[in-house]
Order: sequence, then C-alpha cells, then structure tokens
Amino acid sequence: MPTIDAVALLRGAALRVTRPRVAVLTMVAGNPHSDTDTIATAVRRELGSVSTQAVYDVLRVLTEAGLVRRIEPAGSPARFETRVGDNHHHVVCRNCGAIADVACAVGSAPCLDVQDSRGFVLDEAEVTYWGSCPDCLARDA
Ligand SMILES: [Zn+2]
Ligand SMILES: [Zn+2]
Repeated sequence: MPTIDAVALLRGAALRVTRPRVAVLTMVAGNPHSDTDTIATAVRRELGSVSTQAVYDVLRVLTEAGLVRRIEPAGSPARFETRVGDNHHHVVCRNCGAIADVACAVGSAPCLDVQDSRGFVLDEAEVTYWGSCPDCLARDA
C-alpha cells in the first residue's frame, strides 16, 4: 500500500491541514475499508486524545471533499477508503464481513443501465457482491 501525501491531498481539496485530518487520511489510505472505531483507535494511538466524535467529523469533512469514499454494506458499520473516483465495487463475505475491491466493469458511474429510470437522473449504481471469502472457504473445507 503506497503511503499518501495527506498534506498535499488536503491542500489540493482546499481543506485546512490539521493533525487529526492528516492522521485519519493516512490511516484510511493504509487500511482501506476500516470502520470509524478502528480508525479512531489508530488515530488515538498516534495523536493521543482524539474523541470519536472528532474522528466522525473529520471523516465527514473528508468524504464531502471527495478525498474519502464511504461505503455501508448492509449489516456492517460504515467503512471508509481513499480509493475514490473510479466507481469500483465491493465483494463482501457473508460470514466474516471481509471486504475487497473489484473493478467496475465500465469504469465510470452509473455502470448499470436501467430499462426505465422513472424520470430520475442517475449518477451512481452501487453494487455489492455477496459471498464467502477465501479464508472462510478454507476454514469450512
Ligand atoms: Zn469470510
Ligand atoms: Zn473499496
């Protein structure tokens, strides 16, 4: 996992550079699909006292700025990743909740056409593939 230049990313998005923002962005980049609790724990390890609410706020700002993408598979807390803009999809393990990236078939949103969008203008098709991950398959074998 390449490390990212969080400071440059924040500046590029015209966001003020703060230590919590840099720590959260770096953590999410290195650990894609982390949930808020995991991110907060890692950020606290690095910066000392940072409230979970502060981490929520940072994640919201980063998501709104388009630096972070939020995904929320059914039955799972929200997860965050810095792989944005390529409209990739996710495979989720029904047993252990493991998540992995899969490339979008088309590369841009929305990548699925509907026969009749009922007058809605569509900008995204969110696809989640559900199944069993290799670890769970190996354990059950
Ligand atoms: Zn699994
Ligand atoms: Zn992803």
